[in-house]
Amino acid sequence: MKKLQAPRGTLDVLPPNGRRRLEIVAIADDVLSRAGYQPLETPVFEDTEVFARGVGESTDIVQKEMFTFEDKAGRSLTLRPEATAGICRAYIEHGMHKLPQPVKVWSHGPFFRHEAPQAGRFRQFTQVDAEAIGSDDPSLDAELILLLDEIFERAGTGPRRLRLSSLGTPRTRADYIEELNGYLRAREGELSEEVRSRLDQNPLRAFDADHAGTQSVMKDAPLLLDRLAPDDADHFAEVRGLLDAAGLEYEIDPTLVRGLDYYTRTVFEFESERLGAQAALGGGGRYDALIEELGGQPTPGVGFAAGIERMLLAAGEADAHRGIDVFVAGAGHDAFLLVGQLRGKGMRAQMEQAGRSLKGQLKQADRLGARWTVILGDGIEVKDMESGDQRPAASLDEVLGMVGA
Ligand code: AMP
Repeated sequence: MKKLQAPRGTLDVLPPNGRRRLEIVAIADDVLSRAGYQPLETPVFEDTEVFARGVGESTDIVQKEMFTFEDKAGRSLTLRPEATAGICRAYIEHGMHKLPQPVKVWSHGPFFRHEAPQAGRFRQFTQVDAEAIGSDDPSLDAELILLLDEIFERAGTGPRRLRLSSLGTPRTRADYIEELNGYLRAREGELSEEVRSRLDQNPLRAFDADHAGTQSVMKDAPLLLDRLAPDDADHFAEVRGLLDAAGLEYEIDPTLVRGLDYYTRTVFEFESERLGAQAALGGGGRYDALIEELGGQPTPGVGFAAGIERMLLAAGEADAHRGIDVFVAGAGHDAFLLVGQLRGKGMRAQMEQAGRSLKGQLKQADRLGARWTVILGDGIEVKDMESGDQRPAASLDEVLGMVGA
């Protein structure tokens, strides 16, 4: 029979790693809810058009990486490769522009990209995502960057580098892209085949290229950051001023191009040296034209996404073994009822459930890191696992007192 395995690029989360993932989500909840971000969930699959229009037809994600399938009625559906497009679709669909703005939401869950798997890169991965929709106030850009930094700090990811840039508005960008295109056409012969074939679609991606010839052409290329309209330049200065005031270090990187088309104005990315080639911990930016692109009223927005697997890789192994409060040795109704009572009082309590001998049960209590072991036999004994002292108890009620329940 064929050996069944998890699909390529996916991972099983085995104990004790599941706990660490929940801890990251709890940290995100704590950090984000204090800043007014509320939980929101959207489906893991959407109409393919949500991503084609939202993420952008010319992006790697849409061209190569989507898990797209037809449902039984022949509709094209896609497993979500990122969060923002679906959240904006929900914002429009539910008339959330009628709520007080900005609408601040956050989410976490699985995302899917058909990429070549490698360390830190999966085909199903998990993101924490936050969005502030309905205002272009620069304090939102700065706030999201600081909140993401706080999540990384509390998750224990260690030192990280923050790259920051601004892409301006669609109009500035269109003019700039024309200028860049002209520059690239003039030196077309030095560019990689891939960049050349996509010059008309998205010449900005040339900044991302690994190809040596392309890289040397890009060294002298005009930069969008030098072409920003006054409003956008002011917006960017304000974001930087707030980050400076908050004492967060960053590097301005005019070549920062993120793999999604919808960004306008602020873009940012955090990287960790502890991660290998896939160094990005998380990033995001402003997307003031996206909601209109998806069929809504012109509505600004800004957000971030960060990979939970990458955060845990950067944080390294942590001792996830917590131990339990009480192990009840000896089977039967009394043991069953006692663990129920202990759990009801908020204690972590387990009993024998695999038919071990008494000796095996004591070993199991040890393995579980039990603080106390209650032995139910002819009488009741309570063992303090730290001191090794063992004392009799007259009743189960007395046991509760002895173990501090
Ligand atoms: P992006 O939407 O591409 O900016 O991704 C945001 C974050 O999600 C990245 O910084 C990574 O932490 C994480 N991420 C993106 N793609 C993958 C992947 N294929 N595997 C694991 N994590 C990913």
